[in-house]
Amino acid sequence: MELLDIAEKFNVLIYRRKYGNGFRPHFSMRINEVDFHIDSSPGKGFTIITHAHSDHHGLRNLKNLRAIASQETATILSAISDERYRGMIHSIGERLNLKGIRINTYNTGHIDGSTAYFFRDNGILVTGDVKDFSHLPRCDVLITEATYGHPSYVFEDEVERVIEAARLGVELGAYPVGKAQRVARILSENEIGFKASGKIKKICDALGIEHSDGEARIVSPREVSDGYVLSAQRFYRKRIVFSDHIDYRGIVELVDYCNPEYVLFYHGNPTEKLIHEVEEMGVKALTLRDIKIHL
Ligand SMILES: [Zn+2]
Repeated sequence: MELLDIAEKFNVLIYRRKYGNGFRPHFSMRINEVDFHIDSSPGKGFTIITHAHSDHHGLRNLKNLRAIASQETATILSAISDERYRGMIHSIGERLNLKGIRINTYNTGHIDGSTAYFFRDNGILVTGDVKDFSHLPRCDVLITEATYGHPSYVFEDEVERVIEAARLGVELGAYPVGKAQRVARILSENEIGFKASGKIKKICDALGIEHSDGEARIVSPREVSDGYVLSAQRFYRKRIVFSDHIDYRGIVELVDYCNPEYVLFYHGNPTEKLIHEVEEMGVKALTLRDIKIHL
């Protein structure tokens, strides 16, 4: 019901594409006959890649001339695939006009290149994953993530512990796309040299992150033997809390900040508690399960 209300009020059809017994990843929107597939596989119309993490499906769009990504997202996708990204590229902050649909772009601070897309004539903001929402605009329909949508996830990044461990030469396990670059920058700023190899080195080089060789080591989480994994996920035995995402409180604050009429959680783990909390704020909350239009 609510999605039909949104369709009428904001001139947008929100739908999912059927595929086999299920759906294509995430969802799609149709605005003035133009289709936008969000963090999904290619299709008729445009595919928006909010950032280069694999669960947002950028690599599926390497050859898609109608893929849309920021310069940094394109650089990362090309670096990890050894193939050139062929889609459309924008800088973050640039205003786009796609077949008459006007879109503003904003940084979400999640990883290098992570971008929120604001369909400003319709009041619809698609954020992708978020670490810092302070640059985002107010909107009517907020379409966002809930990776830490469970109320038990309340955390602060332990940046000092990262620096301390790096100084001691302890292995730092960081996901190669995104988190490893954030660590690399923190170490560089603190004049701590480090070693990195494989994908981590490739992406740091492609993005021009300068560093000196030193005792600290950045490795992927599965390569950690005696060090720490940098993550807010509790299943890592030895970890330093260090996340690319807002925590549970952050999600609630993001909704409050953007002050929408509706929020659609399209990625992650929106719990009943989160839905309830958001609705208490007077915002109608939806998840992908509420999308009943399947094309
Ligand atoms: Zn992500």
